[in-house]
Amino acid sequence: MTVAAIEAGGTKIVCAIGASVEEIRATRMRCVVETTDPTETQAKMASFFNACKPIEKVDRVGIATFGPVDPLTGTIGRTPKSGWSGFNWRTFAETVFRGANVTVDTDVNAAALAEARHGAARGLHVSAYLTVGTGIGGGIIVDDRPFQGIGHPEIGHMLIPRVIDDAFAGVCPYHADCLEGLASGRAIGARAGSPPETLVHSNEIWTLEATYLGIAIVNLMTVISPQRIVLGGGVMKQPLLLDLVRREVAARASEYLDLWFARSHQESIVVAPALGDDAGIVGAFELVRSTDQLPPKAPFRM
Ligand SMILES: [Zn+2]
Repeated sequence: MTVAAIEAGGTKIVCAIGASVEEIRATRMRCVVETTDPTETQAKMASFFNACKPIEKVDRVGIATFGPVDPLTGTIGRTPKSGWSGFNWRTFAETVFRGANVTVDTDVNAAALAEARHGAARGLHVSAYLTVGTGIGGGIIVDDRPFQGIGHPEIGHMLIPRVIDDAFAGVCPYHADCLEGLASGRAIGARAGSPPETLVHSNEIWTLEATYLGIAIVNLMTVISPQRIVLGGGVMKQPLLLDLVRREVAARASEYLDLWFARSHQESIVVAPALGDDAGIVGAFELVRSTDQLPPKAPFRM
């Protein structure tokens, strides 16, 4: 099995070829393409893959893409990303890799799958991955498969209560003040008037951020009862934010969720990714692997 893996994010697209997770992580056959308009971006991706020898060996293609996307058809739904609404990933993959088997899912479902199979949620039945970056997205894994209903989860667009006195309008083009509208990197920047990475010492900003993320996580706990929630993305690299979020979750989950989420377990439920920035591309690789091709799981202990 030789896999072409594509992790398509809103600002960049990572492409790699390999036959194992180790190869995908270590390969020199990897390139990063800026996400511009689809015609230019496709040409750059195709040019990279065509230069990889031997491209003819690729028999599976795993595509982990920004959403919304229909995994069956590979079509991107309505998106503010210019030119990408209606773009079809399957058509692209079938043109570049003739005869290969193509699997498409969201970038966050793929990252969740990578963390569930090789990272911070290994050995668990139900886990979630939340990425807090320019936007906010999330994937859910149940028994080794990305959770799909009529569509894929849109965790970033969950509606959450506002903190009293927070008059910020929100930045989501669809809902204004959903989770992404209030707590994404874009929201933090718009609220403060400068990019998140320049606000390291702004306690007020990070306390508010932890409050909104904490609310979202408690909502996830009440709905899917996950054994672990992995928090990734650029915003989560802010020192101490993970601890602030854990504190918020502990305060809000107290009493009524104590049976499953006792305070003593908070640190093992809300965790940082183990695969770091590789979760997306490893997830794209893992999308093509069915459960029966996987090594046995290590026993899990809380
Ligand atoms: Zn929204």
